[in-house]
This record gives sequence, C-alpha cells and structure tokens, in this order.
Amino acid sequence: MTTLNLSLTAEQRALKAGVAGVCARYPGEYWRELDQKREYPEAFVDELTRAGYLAALIPPEYGGAGLGLLEAALILEEINRSGGNAGACHAQMYIMGTLLRHGSEAQKQAYLPKIAGGELRLQAFAVTEPNAGSDTTKLQTTAVRRGDRYVVNGQKIFISRVLQSDLMLLLARTTPLADVARKTDGLSVFLVDIRQARGLEVRPLRVMMNHSTNALFFDNMEVPAAGLIGEEGKGFSYILDGMNAERILVASDSIGDGKWFVEKAVGYSNQRVVFGRPIGANQGVQFAIARAHMAVEAAELMRNKAAALFDASEPCGPEANIAKYLAAEAAWEAGNACIDCHGGYGYAEEYDVERKFREARLYKTAPISQNLVLAYVGEHVLGLPRSY
Ligand SMILES: Cc1cc2nc3c(=O)[nH]c(=O)nc-3n(C[C@H](O)[C@H](O)[C@H](O)COP(=O)(O)OP(=O)(O)OC[C@H]3O[C@@H](n4cnc5c(N)ncnc54)[C@H](O)[C@@H]3O)c2cc1C
Repeated sequence: MTTLNLSLTAEQRALKAGVAGVCARYPGEYWRELDQKREYPEAFVDELTRAGYLAALIPPEYGGAGLGLLEAALILEEINRSGGNAGACHAQMYIMGTLLRHGSEAQKQAYLPKIAGGELRLQAFAVTEPNAGSDTTKLQTTAVRRGDRYVVNGQKIFISRVLQSDLMLLLARTTPLADVARKTDGLSVFLVDIRQARGLEVRPLRVMMNHSTNALFFDNMEVPAAGLIGEEGKGFSYILDGMNAERILVASDSIGDGKWFVEKAVGYSNQRVVFGRPIGANQGVQFAIARAHMAVEAAELMRNKAAALFDASEPCGPEANIAKYLAAEAAWEAGNACIDCHGGYGYAEEYDVERKFREARLYKTAPISQNLVLAYVGEHVLGLPRSY
C-alpha cells in the first residue's frame, strides 16, 4: 500500500527553503513591473533553471535531479507562496514527461540534457483550438506525412510561452476523424523546434494576467519526421498519460497562491485598525480567512495523496483531478477573503493582491475547466452517465 507521509522530510524542507531563497530575490515589485508591461520573467526563470529546479523531474542519466512529483509540486507551490507566478515555467515539468515516457532514446539524448542544463527551453504545449475547445479529439490541425517530413496546417489558441521557448509539443491530427475507429485515434504528438519553424505565425494575446499566451497559425509548417514522438496516431494517449502530473502540479500553483493570500490576509487583518481594533478581531473578517485556510489545507492533503500515488506508480486519476479542483477553489476563496479584508487596498496594484487574484483565477479554467473535472468525477469515479 502507498505510504502518505504527513510531514515533509528534511530534504523536502531544504528544497522548499532553497526555492524560497531564490524567490526572495524577486519580490513583489519585480512581478508587478512585469505584469504591467506584460513581460516574461526571464531573470527569474533563468535563475531557477540554473539552480536545477526546473529539471527536478528529469532523471539523473539525462542531467536532471531525478526527484519525485511531490518534490516538483513543492517547488511550484513555494514559488506561488512567495508571491511569484510559477505559471511562467511550470509547463516544462509536465510537458517533459511526454518526451521522457514516449520519446525515442535518440530524442531523449538530444533534448533532455540540454533542457536540464538550461540550454533549451521546452515550455510550450499546443493543444487547444478555437473550434474544438475542451473536446480535444475534434481538433482540426492536421499533420500530413510527405517523405521525411510532416506538413502542418491549422490553428491553435491560448498557447503559452511560444515566444519564450525553443521547443514546443504539438498535438495534431494525422488521420482524419472520419477514418479512425475511435475518435481518440489518429492524433499525433510532435516535438517542434520553434527556432527553425517556417510557416508558423505567433500572435500574442493580451489576457487578464501576465501569461505570454498566443494564437498560432500553421501554414504548411514542416516538421521533420524525426520530431514525431512515439507512434503516429497514438498521441492522445500520450497526452492523457501526462495529465495526472499536470493536474497535481497545477494544483500546487493554486495551493501556493492560497497560502500567499491567507498569509497576506492574516498580516493585514492583524495590523489594520478600524473602529479602534484590528479588523481581524471581527468575526466577519476572521472567519472568511479561517475558512479559506481550511480549504487550502484540505486541498494540500489531497494533492499530497495524489502525488504519493503518482510517485508510487499507482493509479491517481481521481485524486489528481480532485486535487486540481479543490486547490483552484481554495485559492479563489482565499483570494476573495484577501481582497475583502484589504478593503480598497485590495485593488491597489502596490499590494500585489489584485495581481495574485487575477493569476489565481486562471486555474479554474486551465488547463482544464472545473466543469470538466466534475464531469470526470461524475462519470469515471461515481459511475454516473456520461454528461457530455
Ligand atoms: C491564459 C491561458 C493560458 C493557456 N495556455 C494554454 C496552453 O499553453 N496550451 C493549451 O493547449 N491551452 C492553453 N489554454 C487553454 C485552456 O486549456 C482552455 O481555455 C480550457 O481548457 C478551456 O477550453 P476553452 O477555452 O475552449 O473552453 P470551452 O471548451 O469552449 O468551454 C467553455 C465553458 O463551457 C464549459 N463546458 C464546455 N463543455 C461542457 C460540458 N460538456 N459540460 C459542462 N461544461 C462544459 C467549460 O467548463 C467552460 O466553462 C490556456 C488558456 C488561458 C486562458
């Protein structure tokens, strides 16, 4: 039976302290300024990479730290708990899994050591399309084999960090939907070298938070056949394989956000005096923060369970999805409690609360919306009829 440790080991505590040390050099002003300019946190991501944190999940034989998913989760959590935004770099941790599990030895040798060493960034993951939305099997981007290349046509939406990454994982249809037995067949995953891609147009999108996201247009973009990951037509299962890790890691961003909001709310509510006493002495203020804290604690426990199962190679789909859902809700509740207790100052940029509030909101929608998690739990965990 998988063991769930309720306290962190000395190594895990040291790991968190190390990440906190890096984050301390990138305070609120740093993130605030980038947010205003909608710029990528290059210096932070470079330092985190150089320190080896983004290679936590890469096995030592490819130059990484070979740590477990729980350790990777703690790294992301600590970034957000410190007031930063792990959304700028979290994807490398879960995208890399597809290459690691399904890539050829030649692909792994060619890319993983360079990713681990920071020479290459694999931060972009292109799945979402305007005409398919959450129904991934309906995506319309095609990749057609022509000799030693695939020719890609179509478009994607909300694809993040393409301009800050060297490599991108792309999901495209290689066999038309009408010609496959199951709708999940006929999709393939490619490792695209963005630096050499011709026929790729990247249009940045300005969204609610600083997220470096883009619309992509493929016009006869050529990908060498050597860029195909695993077998042609099996790409959907490869992507699904990585989803539990993705859910657990994104839950960790939210748990970090939740903790930041609670700490900030407690600090402010203890020192802000209105009507002759700290506002935190009022039940209307205090209880909202206490409720948010309990929600974050519960989400963390579920995240730890999911990560323990994942690290023990046990099935963890329900736990990973539940953790992502509970953590996004907990962060949202904590964000609201934090804005509320700050009164008008919650809206002032210099307090960072409104920035974190916008950043935390994303995880109710991406990488999967809360409704789709509920649909998964309803159908696959509880045995209710398929609702979509
Ligand atoms: C800032 C940002 C960054 C992103 N980065 C990336 C990225 O790097 N790579 C990538 O591939 N994608 C990325 N995404 C896309 C993200 O994963 C999708 O937006 C998300 O999965 C939802 O898809 P959609 O926007 O098409 O919504 P839709 O699928 O159109 O859904 C719209 C709404 O309807 C609801 N809904 C739809 N169907 C059902 C149903 N059957 N039952 C109940 N409710 C339903 C959904 O829950 C949602 O609330 C990003 C999005 C954002 C906003």
